[in-house]
Amino acid sequence: MNHMEQEKLLKELDSSRSFAERLKACASYPLYAQAVETLQMNITRRCNLCCRHCHVNASPDRSEEMSRLDMEACLRAASRPEIKTLDITGGAPEMHPHLAWFLQEAAGMRKRLLVRSNAAILLDKKYEHFLDIYAKTAVEVVVSLPSLHRDRTERMRGADIFDRIVAALRGLNSRGYGKPDTGLVLDLVHNPVGAFLPGAQQSLEEEYKTRLRRDYGIDFNRLYCLTNCPVGRYLDFLKRSGNLEQYIGLLKDAFNSAAVESVMCRTTLSVAPDGHLFDCDFNQILDLSLSSDASAHIRDFDYEKLASREIVVRGHCYCCTAGAGSSCQGVLQK
Ligand code: SF4
Ligand code: SF4
Repeated sequence: MNHMEQEKLLKELDSSRSFAERLKACASYPLYAQAVETLQMNITRRCNLCCRHCHVNASPDRSEEMSRLDMEACLRAASRPEIKTLDITGGAPEMHPHLAWFLQEAAGMRKRLLVRSNAAILLDKKYEHFLDIYAKTAVEVVVSLPSLHRDRTERMRGADIFDRIVAALRGLNSRGYGKPDTGLVLDLVHNPVGAFLPGAQQSLEEEYKTRLRRDYGIDFNRLYCLTNCPVGRYLDFLKRSGNLEQYIGLLKDAFNSAAVESVMCRTTLSVAPDGHLFDCDFNQILDLSLSSDASAHIRDFDYEKLASREIVVRGHCYCCTAGAGSSCQGVLQK
C-alpha cells in the first residue's frame, strides 16, 4: 500500500471512537507541541535488512538519503539550546556516506547524541569501523532486539539475524558499551512479534538482562518497550494476516488519557531524508505534513513556530497512548 492508501484505510478505521474525539474528551484537542527538545533525523531509507514490522519501509532497494546540506541544516537547528538530543535513525544510518562526518560534528555540540542501529550491519566489513567510531564519539547506541526468542526475532527480521545481533552486541560490549563506568550507553528495543501490546517494560528489562548475560555474556543499559505502530510494512502485515481490525480495536481499548500529555511529538521533531519536517516518523511515512503555520523544511527551521505547532493526529496515534504509552524512548509512564 502507498501512503495515500494507508492513510485512507486508517481514516476508515478511525471513524468510530476517533483519536481526535478521545483527545477532546480529555480536553487535549487540539494537541500542541510544548517544545522541540529532540531532533530525530531519518537520514536514509536504505537498510541491509527488510524486517516485516518496519514502519518506514526500509530495504536494500531504497536509495533516499539526506543531503549533506540538509545535515548541515540539522546541525544549525540543533545549536538552539532548547534542543537537547540528536536522534539519528533510518533505515540503517551506517549506510549513509556522511554518517561518520556527522557524528564527529554533532559530538562536539555536547548534546545527547544517539544512533539507532540494527547492529547486524556492524559485522559487515564495509561498516565494522563504526564500532570504533561510535565509541570514539561516545554516541549512545540503540539496538532493536524484538525478542529473546531466536525464532520470534528471526520471523520478524529474517533468517540468522539473532546470532548476528548477538555477535554485534558482543562487539559493542568489547568497546565498553553497556559496561559500568565507561559512559558508553547501549540500549535495546523490544517490540511485540505479532498483533499485541508489549509487556511491562521493567520486568522485560530484568528478563532481557538476566538472559542475555547468562546465555550470551551480553550487558546493556536500558530496554525500551515499543508498541508497533500500524503504518508502513507493519500495516501491510496486519492487513495480510487479517489482524488489522483486531489490532486497532486493541489499541483503542487500551487508550490511556494520562499518556497523552507526554506523547513524543510534543517535544520531538522528525526530519525526513529529503529534509521535510514531520511531527513524528509515523506521520512522515503517512506523508502527513506539519500544521500549516509551522516551517515545513529543516532549511527553514523556525524554533518558535515549531515549538508551539499544532500536532496532526490520526487513528495510528492510538499506538502512542495504549497502556503505559509508547515512544522511541520506551514507555511514557514508568
Ligand atoms: S526495522 Fe530497522 S533494521 Fe529492519 S528494515 Fe526497518 S530500518 Fe532496517
Ligand atoms: S503517532 Fe506521532 S503524531 Fe500521533 S501521537 Fe504518536 S508521536 Fe504524536
